[in-house]
Order: sequence, then structure tokens, then C-alpha cells
Amino acid sequence: MPLENLPVTVIKGVGERLAVTLEKIGLKTLQDILFHLPIRYLDRTHITAIAQLQLNTTVMIQARVLRVQVAMGRKRSLVVIVEDDTGTVCLRFYHFSGYQKDKFQQGALLRCYGEPRLGTSGMEFYHPEYDFVDERQPTPVDENLTPIYGLTEGISQTRMRGIVEQAVAMIHQYPPDEMLPVEVNHNFQCESLTHALTYMHHPPHDAPVATLMEGLHPNQQRLAFEELLANFLARRKIHALAAIESAPVLVLASDLRERFLAQLPFSLTGAQERVIADIARDLIAGKPMLRMVQGDVGSGKTLVAAMAALAGVSSGRQVAVVAPTEILAEQHFYNFSDWMRVLGFNVEWLVGKLTAAKRRDALVRIASGEAHIVVGTHALFQEDVTFSQLGLAVIDEQHRFGVDQRLSLRQKSPAGAIAHQLVMTATPIPRTLAMTAYAELDYSVIDELPPGRTPINTVLISQSRREQVIERIRLACIDGKQAYWVCTLVEDSETLAAANAEETVCLLREALSGLSIGLVHGRLKSREKEAVMASFKCGDLQLLVATTVIEVGVDVPNASLMIIENPERLGLAQLHQLRGRVGRGRVASHCVLLYGAKLSEQARSRLQVLRDTNDGFVVAERDLQLRGPGELLGTRQTGEAQYRVADLVRDEHLLERVNALGEHLLENQPSIADKLVQRWVGQRKIYAQV
Ligand code: ADP
Ligand code: MG
Repeated sequence: MPLENLPVTVIKGVGERLAVTLEKIGLKTLQDILFHLPIRYLDRTHITAIAQLQLNTTVMIQARVLRVQVAMGRKRSLVVIVEDDTGTVCLRFYHFSGYQKDKFQQGALLRCYGEPRLGTSGMEFYHPEYDFVDERQPTPVDENLTPIYGLTEGISQTRMRGIVEQAVAMIHQYPPDEMLPVEVNHNFQCESLTHALTYMHHPPHDAPVATLMEGLHPNQQRLAFEELLANFLARRKIHALAAIESAPVLVLASDLRERFLAQLPFSLTGAQERVIADIARDLIAGKPMLRMVQGDVGSGKTLVAAMAALAGVSSGRQVAVVAPTEILAEQHFYNFSDWMRVLGFNVEWLVGKLTAAKRRDALVRIASGEAHIVVGTHALFQEDVTFSQLGLAVIDEQHRFGVDQRLSLRQKSPAGAIAHQLVMTATPIPRTLAMTAYAELDYSVIDELPPGRTPINTVLISQSRREQVIERIRLACIDGKQAYWVCTLVEDSETLAAANAEETVCLLREALSGLSIGLVHGRLKSREKEAVMASFKCGDLQLLVATTVIEVGVDVPNASLMIIENPERLGLAQLHQLRGRVGRGRVASHCVLLYGAKLSEQARSRLQVLRDTNDGFVVAERDLQLRGPGELLGTRQTGEAQYRVADLVRDEHLLERVNALGEHLLENQPSIADKLVQRWVGQRKIYAQV
């Protein structure tokens, strides 16, 4: 029997109960276990001397307890100072029991495993793993790297390691199919799939540790290639399945189109026209559109979305417009209301913070079809939101949402007619990467900005010249212009960010007395946020202090100066988005990157990319090289990172081959394609929801 049909219970020691637990993380068959690859390795093959410790590098030390104390500080912590022949270092525990504390007897010998970070006393280990060493019978150090596996509740690391070990022991009896052409193994200098899997689960004692840790070992690359291929195939299959489903035909009557365009004080750019035509073609094809529109900040994506929405509502269907933040949803709400109400269409508003009564009313209007266009945040994905005739979902800034969330909107389509999907992103994704990461979507680019934009002049200025920068704001505001001051934070905490912004606004109000200064951050109530944004928009506020909540979508053409404090904390793509809030009007705009005192050479050259170009694509390419795809594709926010061995940036060099072989398999060997998808993607949601 092929191993993809053998249940996990064929593995020694795995019974029915354990099988149920394993199934929670999608492990149902022997094949699933073999392809449940280690997420990383622990290197306990040697002991590092304390004098040799390096920051942020995981190591094992062996040392004696010198002193134990409870430090009070901001938060109580247990401090254990340990020493070896070369020096001392601090282990710090924020959560600890009295029992644990008492075990650290002075002079006790222990092995401690972790990653030293910079703390109050210099290098410190935070919550390291440790074992006491029995000095009469010291356990030898490990011979091999120790694999660490993804777990679920009810199963320990040791248990999982044991299960995989058993499965690997059966691999010669049930070798996995080599489904890829033989050249693939050759190209990667990989003996066989069986060998690659065995190696990954059980690296030999002379395995090149650094290469493995970086994921660059030929066996890993061979597996990464197959994994990327399988994911590509899964997404292409979503695309192919869409092609055999039916969707409503949405036509935009030309007189309505003319009436809509006549309201605008400008005409569409050529790029907007072209993308609108792409969409119009999809909307009349009778099968669901799955299209991504990419356009740099300020390229006019909202209008493109509005034209699509108009086709929807004029064909008697409802349209959902989803934005990642309330501020952005609100902007869209105002824009769509302006444009659509005069044409006789109702625009509804649905965000998480509506009062229960308002929400209930909105839900009724959405369910009855009285609301033609519904603008909102992810609140729209919720189960109790039902449409009577959903025909199109527009998703703005798509990288903030996962495939799952997007697909959940499909469930809201009326029977027999799947809603079209239009996803819009300002994140300029290099084409090869887009073709892999979003292979289920067709792709259009708005590659032209509206005319008359003056490029943003970006400069780097040190905090030591903060006062000059503040003076510059005063002059600009006296001159009738408006400005943003954006506060950034190291940690991803809206509470801390809000506190920081509040402090900044106090300082600025003192320094700039006479100017009217507002504050907006994610902790404000929607009504407060709305009020602040409205007074900035109408010019009552001259300076707006904000956290990165204004990152997307805010549109105030008279704002022509932006200060970004500590820009080194953000990714380039995010900074590019932020500065896109200025440069929307006729006057020359400026963006000041007010960097911290200790900017490294590397950080500086990164920021210089922004000074040197206003082109989002160039910024993205550089960001991709410098920071990795999590940032670019937004997988960090959505938790959608779905690769076990592959890494889109590290393995970018594989993508072209992946895409080519993928298309070839779909065309010529669809059954192999199916098997690969089953092997790597399996029951996971990306696939199951279609
Ligand atoms: P983004 O692509 O960043 O979402 P928006 O849709 O917010 O960009 O548009 C940015 C600004 O450009 C808005 O003020 C919008 O009214 C304006 N705009 C859009 N299309 C055009 C055009 N063809 N000509 C001039 N201005 C335009
Ligand atoms: Mg936008």
C-alpha cells in the first residue's frame, strides 16, 4: 500500500488516541509524518565557553551557579549568575517558582541552552532551557543536531521526535514516490527523496550545522523546491476550479459609466483605463474573477475599485469593500458614498466598533439587499453577516488578509453564483514572486501615477537636529500647509505606540504653541478617530501626530510634509507606504526620516534607498533582499506562513523553475500534480475551502 494511504497507526507506538491528536495538525498518514519536517534544530553537540558568547546566537554553555537573587526592577525576576573557567553570565527568569529557585544551589553544575540577548547586566539568557549535570556521571554532549518539530496540545517534543523516528525507520519499506523528473535530484546533488528526508530528520554528526540552520543544504533545497511546487500547484488549482464555477455577469452600462466619470475633476490615467478593462472582461465572463491589482501608493486604485463596484451594483448585485483598518475603511466609505449616492446607490458601513443596535440595523439592511455597497473592516468576514445578493468583494491592501479570510467571503455568495474577487495591493511584489505567492490570482498593474504629482523629496536627518525639524513644521504650517508626525515603536504593541504618540504630542504642543495639533492612534474610539481625521482633512488641524495607523489610505492632498520618527524601526515598504500620504497635491512634498542617534552604516544605507527613489518597485526589490518576504507579503500579520522548508526570499532563485515545472505538470501530468498537493498542502485550508 502506498504510504499516503497508510494511517499513522501503522507507526509503532501510535494508537487511536494519539492518531486523533496528530490529526489536529493535519498528520493523518505515514507520509504526513515523514513530511512533517523539523522547523529548526538545536545544536547541543558542543559546549561554548562563556567568554566566546555572541549576542543572538543559540549555544549551549556548561557553568556553575555562583549567585542567586530575586531582582525587583519593573518586573520581579529570578537572576542566576553562573560561571565557567572563562567568565560569568546571567540567566534571567520572569516566571519562576520557589521550588525552581531553591534548585539553583550555589556550586551546582548545569548545562544551559539558549540565545544570549542584551540585558541590564550585559549579555543575559532569558528563560533558557537548562539541565543539572550529575558530576559523577556527566551525560555526553549530543552527537547529532536535535530536530525540533511543530507540535499540538497533547503531544510533547520528545514524543513527536519518537514518532518521527519510528516513521523514518520504516522509510525503506515504504519509500515515498519520486514524483519529480530525475534531473531535479541531480540538479540539487541529492541522492534521492528518501535520503533527503532521512537526512533532514536525522542529520549525521558531521552535518554542516550553519548550512542546515540557514536552510541551504542541498537536501533542504531539494525539498524546498518540491514544497514550493506543491503550493504553486495548489494555488493554480484554486484558479482552475474557479474557471468551472459560475458567477454573476456584471456589466457596466456606458451611460452610467459616463455619469460616474463626469463627477470626477480629472480623467482616468491610461493605466487605470487598462486595468478597468481587464476587470470588466472578467466580470462578464460568467465565472468568478480572482484578480489582484497592484499599484503604487497614490496610483488611484480606489477609483478602479469603484468602477468595478459600479458594474456590480448596476447589475443588481451587492458589493463588499474590505479594508484592513477602520481609518481606511472610513476613507473608502466617504469616497464611495460621495460617488455612489448621487447615482442612487446606498452605501453601508460595518466595522467592529459599531454599537450593537447600529450593527443590528446594518446587518438587516445588508441581508435585505437595501445596502448596495458595504464598506468595512474584517468585521465583514464574520459569520452573521449575510448578503442577499453578493456579487463582488473588493479587498484593499490584500497582504493584510490571508487566503482563508478571503475565501470565507465566498461562503457569503448566493447559491450557484460565486462572488467575484478583486484584491488590491500597494505592495509592489516582483513578478516571479507574485506568480508563486499568489498563483491563484490573475494580475494587473497600475504602472502610472496621475499626472501633476510632484515627486516627494525624502531626506535623512538625525535626532540631534530635531529642533530644526520642528521649526520647519512651524514654517510650513504658517505657510498654510499641513504636516504629519509619525511615531514608530520597536514593539508591535498598539498600547505602547499610543503612549509614545501621546508623549510626543505633548512635547510638540509645547514646542509649537499656536499651531493646532491633533493626535490619532489605534486605541482611540472610532468616533474620536473619525473626528480627528475629519478636522485634519478640513484643515482645522495643522499637524497630525499619528502612529502607523495612518499607513494606508489616508488622503489629505494639502498635507505636504511628513516627519517619520525612528524610521529605522520599520521596513522600507512600510516607510514607502507611509510617505505616500504626502505628495498627493500640487505643491512639492517632503518626507523627513528623523533617525535615532545610533544609526548603523547598514541601517543608513537601507534608508538611503528611500532617499534615492520614489519608485515602489525599486523599494520593494531592495526590501525583499534586505528583510525577507514575511514583511513584503504580510504573512507575519496573517500567520499564513505556510512553508515548512521553503522560504520565498531565500529560495527566490528556484521560483522560475518551480513555476515552469508547475505549468508543465498541470498540463501533462495532472495526477502527479494532485499527489504533490496532497503530500505538501493536504487538508490545509488554502485548498479545502474551494
Ligand atoms: P491608492 O492607489 O494609493 O489607493 P487613491 O485611490 O487613494 O490611491 O488615489 C490617490 C489620489 O489620487 C486621490 O486623491 C484620488 O482622488 C486621486 N486620483 C485618482 N485617480 C486620478 C487621476 N486619474 N487623475 C488625478 N488624480 C487621481
Ligand atoms: Mg488605497
